[in-house]
Amino acid sequence: TTALAETDPELLASIEGELGRQRNEIELIASENIVSAAVLEAQGSIMTNKYAEGYPGRRYYGGCEYVDIAENLAIERACKLFDCGFANVQPNSGSQANQAVFLALLQPGDTILGMSLDAGGHLTHGAKPNQSGKWFNAIQYGVRKQDNLLDYDQVQELANEHKPKLIIAGGSAVPRQIDFKRMREIADSVGAYLHVDMAHFAGLVAAGEHPSPFPHAHVATTTTHKTLRGPRGGMIVTNDEDLAKKFNSAIFPGIQGGPLMHVIAAKAVAFREALQPEFKTYIKQVITNAQALSDQLIKGGLDTVTHGTDTHVVLVDLRPKGVKGNATEKALGRAHITCNKNGVPFDPEKPMVTSGIRLGSPAGTTRGFGEAEFRQIADWIIEVVDGLAANGEDGNAEVEARVKAEVEALCAKFPIYPNL
Ligand code: PLP
Repeated sequence: TTALAETDPELLASIEGELGRQRNEIELIASENIVSAAVLEAQGSIMTNKYAEGYPGRRYYGGCEYVDIAENLAIERACKLFDCGFANVQPNSGSQANQAVFLALLQPGDTILGMSLDAGGHLTHGAKPNQSGKWFNAIQYGVRKQDNLLDYDQVQELANEHKPKLIIAGGSAVPRQIDFKRMREIADSVGAYLHVDMAHFAGLVAAGEHPSPFPHAHVATTTTHKTLRGPRGGMIVTNDEDLAKKFNSAIFPGIQGGPLMHVIAAKAVAFREALQPEFKTYIKQVITNAQALSDQLIKGGLDTVTHGTDTHVVLVDLRPKGVKGNATEKALGRAHITCNKNGVPFDPEKPMVTSGIRLGSPAGTTRGFGEAEFRQIADWIIEVVDGLAANGEDGNAEVEARVKAEVEALCAKFPIYPNL
């Protein structure tokens, strides 16, 4: 019996419920993954007890000799992964990594230029309800109407017009590679910093399967829990020593207090894993699987934004079948396929409705799914969507129940966490 079973069965039930859900449902949320048992062990360790304000060797607390080892390992491994000189592994999340970059490089009221939320950008890139959109003069660029690819000409025009101090490249629903060289040229033409937010594709960069933000970016931020397959958290990397000092001060004491040493320990474990040759194999499969998923969805009569993907992200345009993102997310959920509704570029629907769903291959690939499984998943999605198209929001209960049973059978063939 476990400590939780004795002291808090109510809470334990939620964890067990979630474990069951992860085991028995196909996880297609593009920003999620399934961490290794070693990452879980480090994150669940006694490192959570330790206060360690400051940085290795320069702490404001005693007793930091062991957490220093963990943080130094995380930093060294991060620098190796991204071939860069400096890493701050303390950001508690991707949002806080971005916030620290802004605190380091900007003053309130300064102009920033980022991708708009409805084109695939992230809230922290200057969206109105976010601090980045409230405290800065946030200008937003988008994608081109004809092909839904990043509109570099528009970025240049907006840069010329508004003279931003910082340009952000990256997003949360961008299926294609971004031309970092071009973005740097635009930044240089107006004297702006280039900040690449590689939260989504960091794992692809680490594996050498996606262009690196460096040498073009002044700074790159990332989450550690998406394609990188580490614990939930953030990181800032750069090659500029002066900027690195500013980012350190911005994280602590700028916006954070004591770093989450258990999470930093788990980041170190994940970074070591990402340095192994197996991780490259994994990431190659992530991309192959996403491409197979997109291809099979198109064969089934749906469309995907940019008609394919270079990454782990597949942004499905549901309009060819006349169904909505919110109803599709719910119907797929009933069939034990988990994803999120997502606007497509120039979406006529409201954000709570949407014309799209965002899918991703990282979690499924971790549990062992290959191309055949992802094509099967696409076929199931088509069946469920056809049920919605024929019957409205209630869908086809019979189809959904059958797909759910087939999904569970597939999940049983690819078990996760056998020892939990
Ligand atoms: N940046 C991008 C591009 C993201 O996709 C995300 C995550 O959704 C974040 C930043 C924020 O990360 P977090 O959710 O850890 O704050």
